[in-house]
Amino acid sequence: MMRHAILALNAGSSSIKFGLYDLEPSAELQLVSRGKLDLGDAPRLSAKAADGTVQCDRPLAGDARNAGIDALLDWIESELGGRKLIAAGHRIVHGGCEFVEPVRLTPAVIEGLDRLTPLAPLHQPRSLAPIRTLAALRPDLPQVGCFDTAFHQTIDLIVSRFALPRKYDAEGIRRYGFHGLSYEYIAGRLKEISPALAAKRTIVAHLGNGASLCAMRDGRSVDTTMGFSALDGLVMGTRCGAIDPGVLLYFVLERGITGEALQHMLYEESGLLGISGISGDMRTLEASDDPHAREAVDLFAFRAARETAALANTLGGLECLVFTAGIGERSAPVRMAICERLHWLGVAIDEPSNASHAEIISRPDSKVEIRVVATDEESIIARHTRVQGNA
Ligand code: ADP
Repeated sequence: MMRHAILALNAGSSSIKFGLYDLEPSAELQLVSRGKLDLGDAPRLSAKAADGTVQCDRPLAGDARNAGIDALLDWIESELGGRKLIAAGHRIVHGGCEFVEPVRLTPAVIEGLDRLTPLAPLHQPRSLAPIRTLAALRPDLPQVGCFDTAFHQTIDLIVSRFALPRKYDAEGIRRYGFHGLSYEYIAGRLKEISPALAAKRTIVAHLGNGASLCAMRDGRSVDTTMGFSALDGLVMGTRCGAIDPGVLLYFVLERGITGEALQHMLYEESGLLGISGISGDMRTLEASDDPHAREAVDLFAFRAARETAALANTLGGLECLVFTAGIGERSAPVRMAICERLHWLGVAIDEPSNASHAEIISRPDSKVEIRVVATDEESIIARHTRVQGNA
């Protein structure tokens, strides 16, 4: 029997992560495959089954982005045991004020999303590229867009507003927040673990190459560290995080740096990479003896703790702290450094549980429950795609 499947795509700067899910009638989606299309100098398709078995790992020829998606479709439809794709879902960085829930991607919607490109000039085109490629390759395949900004539509005006002349807020210049699909997944997981846990005043620390925090009450976003752009807030792999706007004025007005060069510096040359001069990759820095690498890791933790305290203020207290994404799930030293700085707030981390990446890493006497939860943006995309794509 031909099985029906949903493809969830999560496009990044140099790769597209994907999840493939079988559609079981009246049941949860079943993960069949999780993988990555590398689009860099050596294009590659790799995929593993839910149990970790390697299903595919091969180089791709030709123009990576188009050929990559073509090869992925071929692989799913011809080699993976007779599956028919019935819908595809995408992570889209920016939904602006208009797109606050998942949406079927018609040509008019795609155009509307393209008009948001000035709000996320580096990320929005990356989100839209695979949608256009898929539309060209499979014009009849329903596609659904899921927005990183949507989860934060619940934040109050006082949190989202910048202290600029007020007309700019009406023009969309305000805090949007990102990583919403990850936060939505975590909110759902906490609820599955226990409704009492989900009701706690919670801060989720999504610490990956991009990094942000989200303050949640009853599973809804009330504050977040990223703002108008994905530059604000925490120190990231290559992004600066929050910075005195006077520094930017100084670069433009006194040093004559162009907007493009400044954009490149803030997004690509700053953060862990900028401070260490070595790498934007936390694993590399943790393995290095260089004092600049140490400084970069220390600043990462300092700023994460500082912003956690700020968000705890928005929440009026803190009862649960969740770590997720590459660094949050796997770096015990970074979790330790952040939690130690938050000890005054009642955060007491248990060293052995932290070292073993246990689910709960707080001490029994900690006022704040500290958890490690693996995020899964693709499963959220697939769930929304099932609903919106009428699959
Ligand atoms: P993205 O934001 O691209 O999805 P990830 O969530 O995969 O990124 O996070 C990537 C970051 O996680 C990198 O800085 C990487 O070094 C870090 N990381 C992954 N594994 C570990 C580990 N075992 N220890 C420390 N850092 C890790």
